[in-house]
Amino acid sequence: LEEKIISLEGRVPKTYPDVKFLNYLNRKRILVTGGAGFVGSHLVDRLMLQGHEVIVADNFYTGRKSNVEQWIGHENFELIHHDIVHPIYIEADEIYHLASPASPPHYMHNPVKTIKTNTLGTINILGLARRLNAKVLIASTSEVYGDPDIHPQPETYWGHVNPIGPRACYDEGKRVSESLTYAYAKQENMKVRVARIFNTYGPRMHMNDGRVVSNFILQALQDDKVTVYGSGEQTRSFQYISDLVEGLVALMNSNYSQPVNLGSPVEHTINEFATIIKTLVGGRSKIVHVSEVEDDPQRRRPDISRAKKILNWEPTVTLNVGLQKTVEYFRQELKRYKYSPRN
Ligand code: NAD
Ligand code: UDP
Repeated sequence: LEEKIISLEGRVPKTYPDVKFLNYLNRKRILVTGGAGFVGSHLVDRLMLQGHEVIVADNFYTGRKSNVEQWIGHENFELIHHDIVHPIYIEADEIYHLASPASPPHYMHNPVKTIKTNTLGTINILGLARRLNAKVLIASTSEVYGDPDIHPQPETYWGHVNPIGPRACYDEGKRVSESLTYAYAKQENMKVRVARIFNTYGPRMHMNDGRVVSNFILQALQDDKVTVYGSGEQTRSFQYISDLVEGLVALMNSNYSQPVNLGSPVEHTINEFATIIKTLVGGRSKIVHVSEVEDDPQRRRPDISRAKKILNWEPTVTLNVGLQKTVEYFRQELKRYKYSPRN
């Protein structure tokens, strides 16, 4: 035993990124559900660096411990393996509710579970926020607008969603999540925030995520075919992760309780996007067209006037800069994966 203790004491202590010191009056206890996922883990970094206490609750359905490993063991950080479909009993001053798969292949994999996560899960989190009298921010999505017939989409647009299509588990799940949020706010007099997030990309997207940014980059890096679904004339607007995190924190700290679009107003067709990525990565891959996917929204671009006016927020990272960072991340991931002892 003595030998074991000596060997433990001899261990090099883990070093953490520089965390700002906040005294107890300014330090908040913040719960981030889905904090081990792509968006959640970047938000956690930001809140930890600001000196807050952060609790992550995640069931690791699409998230990974490695996304938050930089904080494991830090006195301000706690990671809880928890499925939010079940109630959670903890103490917090603020809640960012992000738990839900976000990529179409992931949320369609188990549609019933996706609905449960966005309905029962949201009820549990709103119930927790009510008991704690905590401010709660719900991560909603541009998918509440469905395949929109108004362009660009302002928050006042009610949407055009197929309630029984393959995307319904997510789209309708998020719509109910919003309805629940405003029902609780009205009935229980709670402080709520709703972010309607548009397509976001960056490091820590999962290699098997299946969304267009990670697919195209990985295909181009491996000289595989870059697969455009359908005609490729459908459009999306892509924002870099650091811009989204800024927007989420600004919204939480604001006094505004109506939904706010957070996304990039720069719109591209998927064909243009394939060419941009191929040019950036180089290599020998070819762009090919494969069958279209059912109910694929044909146009998507946020009207961000509300975020500009209320939060003084707009994206600042250009597509070129953001994509370069993301390509570099996936280059490293591929190397890590190739040389992993498990392969
Ligand atoms: P992600 O899949 O990387 O992260 C989601 C996280 O939630 C994962 O860590 C996952 O394990 C966790 N999770 C899922 N179901 C859970 C459950 N039942 N209990 C506990 N944890 C659960 O996705 P993301 O891109 O980080 O998205 C985060 C949030 O933002 C989601 O709510 C998503 O709907 C929303 N959003 C994201 C985008 C985007 O482009 N990334 C766009 C619109 C909305
Ligand atoms: N897409 C594509 N090839 C892929 C993955 C996606 O052409 O390998 C298209 C998809 O049909 C959609 C757009 O890219 O029109 C964005 O898809 P994604 O799954 O990233 O997110 P969505 O905005 O549809 O939720």
